[in-house]
Amino acid sequence: MPAEAILYEGPVFGAEGADALAVRCGRIAAVGASAEILRLKGPETVLVPLRGRAVVPGFFDAHTHFVRVGLEKTFYVELGRTRSLAEALERLHSAASARPGEWTVGRGWDESFWPEKRYLERSDLDRAVPRQPCYAMRVDGHMLAANTLALARCSLPDGEFVDRDLGHLREEAAWQVARTARPDPETLVEAVDAASRHAASLGVTSVADMAGAGDLIAYQSAVQRGTLRTRVFLYLPVDELPALMSLGVSRGFGSDLLSVQGVKAFADGSIGARTAAVGEPYRDGTGHGQLLIGRHELASRWRAACETGLQVAVHAIGDRAIEEVLAAAHQAGISPLDRHRIEHLELPSAAQLEDVASLGLVASMQPNFLQWSGPGGMYEERLGPERDARMDPHARVIEHSIPLAFGSDGMPMGPLYGIGLVLDPPHPSQKTPLLEAIRAYTEGAAHASFAEGELGKLFPGKWADLVVLSGDPARTPWGELEVDLTFLAGERVYLRDGAS
Ligand SMILES: [Zn+2]
Repeated sequence: MPAEAILYEGPVFGAEGADALAVRCGRIAAVGASAEILRLKGPETVLVPLRGRAVVPGFFDAHTHFVRVGLEKTFYVELGRTRSLAEALERLHSAASARPGEWTVGRGWDESFWPEKRYLERSDLDRAVPRQPCYAMRVDGHMLAANTLALARCSLPDGEFVDRDLGHLREEAAWQVARTARPDPETLVEAVDAASRHAASLGVTSVADMAGAGDLIAYQSAVQRGTLRTRVFLYLPVDELPALMSLGVSRGFGSDLLSVQGVKAFADGSIGARTAAVGEPYRDGTGHGQLLIGRHELASRWRAACETGLQVAVHAIGDRAIEEVLAAAHQAGISPLDRHRIEHLELPSAAQLEDVASLGLVASMQPNFLQWSGPGGMYEERLGPERDARMDPHARVIEHSIPLAFGSDGMPMGPLYGIGLVLDPPHPSQKTPLLEAIRAYTEGAAHASFAEGELGKLFPGKWADLVVLSGDPARTPWGELEVDLTFLAGERVYLRDGAS
């Protein structure tokens, strides 16, 4: 049987000496020398001349919020690229004017890149959007600023998560208000389509999605319409554990395109919102952050998930949260064979890394978080230079042979950007060699979702999820590379304008 597609005359990542690859039935049929692989050509075979461009495995984003990524393209007022607080308010104001009477929802603001260097506040939003409810979520998703009308939807009392004067809601309080302004089902289905297109343009063919329970129905519709062209490995909120248990849903339930893998819990918040649980207080004297779950409760949920056959992914950023997660893992008696995951693992101590390694936990880290590290950055401002230099220690993780998976958390999505940051990071312990970085964003992420048998390597038998870069990373500086083509199961899902 002839090949469906042949990519030839360009380096094949991870296959020494090979410069071609053939696809059959959506899978990689053969990898080898161009002359030999071209013999598999038939009359219908699609030929893709690489002309020295490298082919790499489709990137696997090990931690994202896929529907949110799509909504940023279709529904939210995008505040991620605003250069000042005033510009963010201007955007919210014009969006509100265009849709009077409706919720105005902004997303992605980051005061650390603004000259004002302060959070959005209720009074700002009341001025910009006076007549309809409006909230704007900070980039990390752990805090929002609400106007007076939106604040009325928050039923929680004032305290560590609610500051009505400033209009600041954190963690559960923020999510409560966000849920009341949730877009309608059709908007969510369109968001899956938008996210899938966007992912393909970035070379992302698989994602581990830290999803909301309400996303499932949107995914189902997208699958039926054929608009989901990204493999999605779902991690549902840990609160859904009883439902999953009663249904008997365990890891792998679903299809090659969409499957349930496990549950996701939060041990703490974020550095940006000052809710990450840290041992030493924040440098600006705003406390130690918050633990969102205690070790005993986490351990009992962990045991329940294991009995059901679900993977557990726990968000832990600060050293105090990491300590709690490790204690819970010991208490639950987890096995390395279950590949449970710590999400972010930003500020581990040396002893904690030893423990992560011995427990066989997977480190699911986000190289793009380095955008906040280094002199003058947000991490240094919140934590001081000593702790900033210990943030995101990818090199230490690799030294400890801890399985490493890279993702983006959607801040923003983009493996090329993330990998670029770890190649030349602010601090030595963050540095990751190119080969290791690409592996963490392909094989490592596949391993973290038990998909290494099917994905993550250019090897015969694996799915033909492929990315053609605009050059060869061995010759072209990483920052100059672009994604030219993306294939999912051998089918082209993206072609860059001007590429072929
Ligand atoms: Zn996340």
